[in-house]
Amino acid sequence: MKESYQKIIDELGSQRVLKNERLADYTTFKIGGPADLFYEARTKGEIVMALKTVKTFNVPYFVLGGGSNVLFADKGFRGLVIKLKIESFSVKGEKITAGAGMLLSKLVNLALENSLSGLEFAVGIPGTVGGAVADNAGAWQQSIGNLVEKVTILNEKEEVASVNKNECLFGYRSSCFKGKNKVILETELLLKKRDKKIIEKQMEEYLDKRSNQPKEPSAGCIFVNPKPVSAGELIEKCGLKGTRIGDAMISEKHANFIVNLGKANAKDVLELVSLMKQKVKENFSIDLTEEIVKIGEF
Ligand SMILES: Cc1cc2nc3c(=O)[nH]c(=O)nc-3n(C[C@H](O)[C@H](O)[C@H](O)COP(=O)(O)OP(=O)(O)OC[C@H]3O[C@@H](n4cnc5c(N)ncnc54)[C@H](O)[C@@H]3O)c2cc1C
Repeated sequence: MKESYQKIIDELGSQRVLKNERLADYTTFKIGGPADLFYEARTKGEIVMALKTVKTFNVPYFVLGGGSNVLFADKGFRGLVIKLKIESFSVKGEKITAGAGMLLSKLVNLALENSLSGLEFAVGIPGTVGGAVADNAGAWQQSIGNLVEKVTILNEKEEVASVNKNECLFGYRSSCFKGKNKVILETELLLKKRDKKIIEKQMEEYLDKRSNQPKEPSAGCIFVNPKPVSAGELIEKCGLKGTRIGDAMISEKHANFIVNLGKANAKDVLELVSLMKQKVKENFSIDLTEEIVKIGEF
C-alpha cells in the first residue's frame, strides 16, 4: 500500500475508506474497474476534510454524484473517489434548498408534495442534484439552471463560497462548475406554487415520453446535440442502430444511447464512441462532442 494512501485512510478512518471498490456498482452504466480508495462524504465537514487530505498527500481524486453521466475505465481509478452523500434539504415558501447528494428524483417528488412547479421536466433524469447542477441537466427545452438562485460550493482552496445565479454561467449541458475543481455542496432553487394536479399531469406526460427510452444500463446520451440537429438522428442516419461491440450496443431505440447488454466494458464503449464519431464526420462533416465524462486509467 502506498504511503500516501495509508495517510488518507488514517485521516478519514479505516472503517470509512474502502479499498479496491468496484466502480461499476456506482454507475448507471454498470461499467468500471476498482477505485484504489473510495469514500462517501456525508457532511460538509467530511468533504472539506477529504479534499484537504488528498491535496496534502498529493493523491488524485474524483467527485462522484449518482454516476449517471460517467464512464469509468476498466482499470478503474488510481486515487480516491469521493461520493457525495450530502442529502439534507429544506423547503421555505417557494424555495427549496437541496444537498448536492440528494437524488434528483427525490427533489422532483419533494417539489410535487409541496405543490411547487418548475422541476417537472426533470422527472426520469437519474443522478444527484449536484451532478444535475454541474451539468445543467435538462429536457424538453428546460434545464435546472433556470431555477437556480444560489449555489454553495467548496472552491479550489476548500473554502465555502456562495455563487449566485448570474455567476453560474449555465449553458447547454454546462456550467462554471463542470470540470473546474469546484464542489457543489448545496443548491437553492426558486419554484412556483401551482395546483398539484397540474404538476402531476405534466410529469406523467414527460414520463410517458421517456417510456420509449432504452431500459438497459446506460449513461444516457453519449453526445451533446450539435444544434440545431440531434446527435441521435445523425447516428441513426449512418445506419448504426443496433451495432454491437462485445456487450456494448448502440441502442435500437435511441441512437445516442449505448447500452450495456450484460458484460460490456469501457473499451467496448469507447470503440463504439469512435465509430459513431467517425461515421457522423464522414457523412455529415460534423464533429460530435461527448456528453459523458470519461474517468480513470484508459
Ligand atoms: C437513462 C438516462 C437518462 C438520462 N436523461 C437525461 C436527460 O434527459 N437530461 C440530462 O441532462 N441528462 C440525462 N442523463 C444524464 C445524467 O443523468 C445527468 O447528466 C445527471 O445530471 C448526472 O448527475 P450525477 O449525479 O449522476 O453525476 P455523475 O455522473 O456522478 O457526475 C457527472 C459529472 O458531474 C460532476 N459532479 C457530480 N456531483 C458534483 C458536485 N456535487 N459538485 C461538482 N461536480 C459534481 C462529476 O465530477 C462529473 O464530472 C440521463 C442518464 C441516464 C442514464
